[in-house]
Amino acid sequence: MHCKLQRRESLKESDPEVFDLIQRETSRQEYGLEMIPSENFVSEAVLEAMGSVLTNKYAEGQPRRRYYGGCEVVDEVEDLAKARAKSLFGAEFANVQPHSGAAANQAVFEALLNPGDTVMGMRLDMGGHLTHGSPVNFSGKYYNVVAYGVRESDHLIDETEVRDLALKHRPKFIICGATAYSRHIDFAMFRRVADEVGAVAVADIAHYAGLVAAGVYPSPVPHCQIITSTAHKTLRGPRSGFILAQEGYARAINKAVFPGLQGGPHMHTIAAKAVAFKEAMQPAFKTYATAIIENARALSAGLISHGFNIVSGGTDSHVMLVDMRAAEINGKEAEAVFDRIGITCNKNTIPFDPQPPLVGSGVRLGTPALTTRGMGTSEMTTIARLMKDAVQSRGDDAKLRSLREEVRELSRRFPLYDYRLI
Ligand SMILES: *Cc1c(COP(=O)(O)O)cnc(C)c1O
Repeated sequence: MHCKLQRRESLKESDPEVFDLIQRETSRQEYGLEMIPSENFVSEAVLEAMGSVLTNKYAEGQPRRRYYGGCEVVDEVEDLAKARAKSLFGAEFANVQPHSGAAANQAVFEALLNPGDTVMGMRLDMGGHLTHGSPVNFSGKYYNVVAYGVRESDHLIDETEVRDLALKHRPKFIICGATAYSRHIDFAMFRRVADEVGAVAVADIAHYAGLVAAGVYPSPVPHCQIITSTAHKTLRGPRSGFILAQEGYARAINKAVFPGLQGGPHMHTIAAKAVAFKEAMQPAFKTYATAIIENARALSAGLISHGFNIVSGGTDSHVMLVDMRAAEINGKEAEAVFDRIGITCNKNTIPFDPQPPLVGSGVRLGTPALTTRGMGTSEMTTIARLMKDAVQSRGDDAKLRSLREEVRELSRRFPLYDYRLI
């Protein structure tokens, strides 16, 4: 610490406005309940790597094949991150350069397809992701997308539908993985269908990556040729993406990421990914991932006991979709009521939703962030009751204020970081 810029208080002195905003966001995170399933709280070690001088370095290219000098240290950083990613997931190849999950998916499209080619992905309004072929996204604009959904009877992915569509449309790849699907995804089934039509099976485990790494959710690695992910959801790393693949796809993927799509890799984030991968290898991470699912099951059971319906009847993961129609409130209103008592979540469509996406009949809840704070199943039972009370008392300002106090008390018992973030 011999560099003046490294003093923590320097931001406070040089830019009090930004400093103050960070302080306010720190308080918001500290005194509310974060139940957006794609969010989490990274460790201080991850934060430190992200806030390091590695952000200063340009390193276009691959380790030892760069377009800039001075890369000898960052080469080691990237090698370490790749080696850890491969070992954590048991994969043959890793590219840790994608800036985000969306960028990782875009690279796979770029690597495997020409514009106009046919792909299959899950419908956005049934749990899929924008980048799996939504018409408003690059994936839906430049490629011919055939979308599969879930069955109306049980809200599960239907092998017959996936196979029939694949046989009829002959996609170049089939992407599975979701942002609002709580059950196990049958990766072997997707590979089987892909093989039958000569397609590549791609799995996007952005949501499940931490659970997969810990062995508490099925891994696509033995089945799918290419896997994309984020690092910042259940995996609890920095905001970013990465790609795993069988060796035969290495060249095409590397070329698609750079020079196909990106410029210089974010070496500070790659260092933070390496830190997160190492954290995920520790026995404590398995305990954490196991607790995420136990908490999700307890929350889902609690909500069911209060008369809420959960899409597909429960969860096998960190996420659940609550169908709010039984409570006679739509997703948008429910999100706003929960926000008033300090519970952050997002409205979501449910399968076969009669409401438009900006309203939605459901809310999506997740337990990764609360589990990081150390909360357990008894807190989940309390939260289910708080949510029921909030919905029932939505017209009663005084009651909502007292529920807000309860949320604040609960969050106080599980401090987020025992130091201020900067
Ligand atoms: C979150 C998510 C992404 C996108 O990740 P970003 O880092 O926000 O771009 C991609 N795919 C799935 C399935 C996701 O859940």
